[in-house]
Amino acid sequence: MSYKPLDSKVEIPALEREVQRFWEDTDAYRRRVEIQEGEDRPHWSFIDGPITANNPMGVHHAWGRTYKDLFARYRFMRGYEVRNQNGFDCQGLWVEVEVEKELGFESKLDIEAYGLADFVKKCKQRVLNYSAIQTEQSIRLGMWTDWNDPEELRKLAEALENPMEETTYVGSKGPVTGTAEWLVGNLGMPELGGSYYTLSDENNYMIWAALKSCHERGWIYNGADAMPWCPRCSTGISQHEIVTEGYRELTHTSVYVLFRLRDREGSLLIWTTTPWTLTSNVAAAVHPDLTYVKVRYRDEVLYLSKGSLKSAIQDQKNVEVLGELSGAEMEGWRYRGSFDELPLIREMGVPEAHRVILWDEVGEEEGTGIVHIAPGAGKDDLMLGKQYGLPAPAPLDDFGVIIDGFGWLSGVHVYDSAEPIFDDLRRKDLLYRTQRYTHRYPVCWRCGSELVFRYVSEWFIDMGEKLDKPLEEVTEEEKERNLRYQIMESANEVEWIPEFGLKRELDWLRNMDDWMISKKRYYGLALPIWRCECGWFDVIGSKEELEERAVEGWDRFEGHSPHRPYIDEVKIRCERCGGLATRIPDVGNPWLDAGIVGFSTLQYRQDREYWEKWFPAHFITETFPGQFRNWLYAMLAESTILVRRTPYRVCLGHGQVLADDGREMHKSWGNAIWFDDAAETMGADVLRWICCSTKPESNLLFGYKRAGEVRRLFFMTLLNIYNFFYQYASLDGWTPAEQPVELAPLDRWVLGRLSRTVEGVTEALDGYDAQTACVEIDRFVDVLSKWYVRRSRRRFWKTEADDEKRAAYSTLYRCLRTVVLLLAPVTPHLSEALYQRMVRPVEPGVPESVHHCGWPEVDGSVVDVELLAEMDLAMTLSSMGRAARSQCGVKLRQPLGEAVVVVPAEDLPRLGRVSDLVGEELNVKAVRASSDRGLLQSLTVEPVPAMLGRKHGGLFPRVAEAVRGLGSEAAEALSAGEPVTVLVDGLPVEVLPEEVELVSVSRWC
Ligand SMILES: [Zn+2]
Ligand SMILES: [Zn+2]
Repeated sequence: MSYKPLDSKVEIPALEREVQRFWEDTDAYRRRVEIQEGEDRPHWSFIDGPITANNPMGVHHAWGRTYKDLFARYRFMRGYEVRNQNGFDCQGLWVEVEVEKELGFESKLDIEAYGLADFVKKCKQRVLNYSAIQTEQSIRLGMWTDWNDPEELRKLAEALENPMEETTYVGSKGPVTGTAEWLVGNLGMPELGGSYYTLSDENNYMIWAALKSCHERGWIYNGADAMPWCPRCSTGISQHEIVTEGYRELTHTSVYVLFRLRDREGSLLIWTTTPWTLTSNVAAAVHPDLTYVKVRYRDEVLYLSKGSLKSAIQDQKNVEVLGELSGAEMEGWRYRGSFDELPLIREMGVPEAHRVILWDEVGEEEGTGIVHIAPGAGKDDLMLGKQYGLPAPAPLDDFGVIIDGFGWLSGVHVYDSAEPIFDDLRRKDLLYRTQRYTHRYPVCWRCGSELVFRYVSEWFIDMGEKLDKPLEEVTEEEKERNLRYQIMESANEVEWIPEFGLKRELDWLRNMDDWMISKKRYYGLALPIWRCECGWFDVIGSKEELEERAVEGWDRFEGHSPHRPYIDEVKIRCERCGGLATRIPDVGNPWLDAGIVGFSTLQYRQDREYWEKWFPAHFITETFPGQFRNWLYAMLAESTILVRRTPYRVCLGHGQVLADDGREMHKSWGNAIWFDDAAETMGADVLRWICCSTKPESNLLFGYKRAGEVRRLFFMTLLNIYNFFYQYASLDGWTPAEQPVELAPLDRWVLGRLSRTVEGVTEALDGYDAQTACVEIDRFVDVLSKWYVRRSRRRFWKTEADDEKRAAYSTLYRCLRTVVLLLAPVTPHLSEALYQRMVRPVEPGVPESVHHCGWPEVDGSVVDVELLAEMDLAMTLSSMGRAARSQCGVKLRQPLGEAVVVVPAEDLPRLGRVSDLVGEELNVKAVRASSDRGLLQSLTVEPVPAMLGRKHGGLFPRVAEAVRGLGSEAAEALSAGEPVTVLVDGLPVEVLPEEVELVSVSRWC
């Protein structure tokens, strides 16, 4: 039985691989599960915000994932039964887009030609394969949870080629046999174990239950609205998706166009950045109170706002103003549109509808103060169209192609439409001029395509009215009707870290529009809405309900997961007309998937007692800021719908990981670091330490330089202490069985510091504050190295193994052993490597892994408050003394006669007790104590011209001179806040403390 060395030149990644092999060989994680299951423990629940299993994990994922692992490990060590199932987000547009790329598809038409069943299968296979990769990466990061075997996931992906064939999957509780499709649909469920997958049958059906609950309260509706639309992805983009990252700076060609007036001479001059919308123009809006001008420009008479005249018409010398009028006077003027000849436009009665309308939102900062309105191609336009009863031609199809009925424009893609439209307007003599224009324009968050506004029909959850009063004043009856306020109540139950989280979440909830839950796509939650041609619709709440109500197609669906195309086979009876109702083809917003996991993964529908035990989660963590409207929101919303409670108690938000140049990491900028490279170059524990020691509310600047510093300043310091201990303790054959009779003051001091550190780290981690925990550990390791070990060296060097030496060994061992335990949740590999080398060989009967150990107890009995204060004083004085030496350029090895220390009078006795020690540290013969500050520094008085000048005017120079001549006694008085009097020309002048500046001058170099 002896200690094992740990070379301080060791490569951390190599050390981590050794530790990971040990965990694997000893099945260390399972052993931890057995320990917690075998004991009666309080429980601690964590719900994972799922990572999208669509690409390899990025280094930015390491931050949140480190917190997730850290707090679970910590709670286990504190004696809790821990549930920390990992999750994978599996459905939705992001997966579809990647599979489309894989298959070389360009649009939805390619998917339909390929076949929905095969496409959905490919999406599932991609998710399984990437979840295998992310599992391997997470294990590499040192995350402990019930992982699926990555090889089994890959085999399952392959087996899915023949979804209805039986196969066997080996899960964490042993082999399970079923069809490949059934096995995939049951991943993460109790029988199969492992991570949860949002593609699972239970996850999808659980959302059905939530949506049904909404429908029972009348909150599900189909709304036609003009909304942002991605022509490439052929889907609407919800407000949630566009708020923050959905804009890009783009330059377009804008155009000034003439609308010829019908009942009078001249034209309205309008301006637009989206020429294609002119095809569907119906009205022209003016502000009632703005001033408009009638001008002659060359051979045209134009109307536009007075304030826009100069920017709109640059050739001002040819402008002749003929008159002024208010917008209100123009109301009702009729005009001819620029595309009135198009068949559909005529058919819809648009030419007769053209007129000037009033709108308070019209401005003149840009354009002409006259806004062209196309109700079928813009959100505000639609609102105005409804208000004025205008027709709403909508020119674009799902792919952004102009539909039939638009004459020569039909079949033209919106992206290619600007130039032909300009040519056509020129031919008609309606184009005044074009202008390059740069603006923030919405783009698709997935594929980057420019969005267009389309008039489409989508499904929504009604969030309720936006009441103009604070939450406290909303009545219970109003809350019953308004989901928005119920969710706000749930958000109020959460402890948000940092605190501003609550305000952000409430702001979002207060202002958000209804929640658009539909997407016109293929792979995702099959929205459980069945609709009849007569307009009737119903929401189905479970698979069982669907089976009961199915009148057709159940046989073709049975055995499949609730995905397209099979789910679409099932028809139900319309309760209004008796016809057949069909599922709407839309799939669900993917945040519905991730938002339901507080129910689907906790057996809400199968085992209510189990759910009660683990719900709500004690802890979740996510990145700010986007998640306020995504996962954090969706979790709150769905939980409120189902049980009107928050699904999580503590929400820890953290910032973004950026490159060390402060920019986002981008492959093309050359500043991106891949997770695998980071883990294999710097080590997972270094990465974890960097994450944990960063303030969560700031962004993390990540790079190899910082990693090098962490390795050198923290890891190497600790390893060097261990090696020092290892060298001498091995030589002497000392083991913890040999306890000393008496400890030296230095030992008692460091044990006191240790106890305080344990206390500090415990308190920090109880409050989910990893950063403070790291600071505490780091500080302790630093004083252990720089003070305790250095000052104890002579005791270790002694030849005879006496009590003094035993005391030093025993103390250093206790310190290192405790640090190893404190570090276990933060840097699990390093902690294990030290535990296996230092603790296990000499302490028979300790747990096999450091991660099976309990958390160190705070030992208050070793804390000697006076001793701690003395040593703190000694350390402070020594470091100040060394600073003073280096300031004056006198090296430490040059002995000096005396050090003068000024401390407050009450500290003088304490100083007496440490003066020998300080003298030794500073290499001085004597340490003299004093409480007279004047010994070390003198104060001089400087006038503040701004104050004294204003007060004394012409007399100021002479007052200033007198002030500068004040002695140290007057300076002390001023420093104590008292006024002093100077004589100027023989007359007394009072000088106040705020009129002077006191400058202290050192007296010793
Ligand atoms: Zn797109
Ligand atoms: Zn019907």
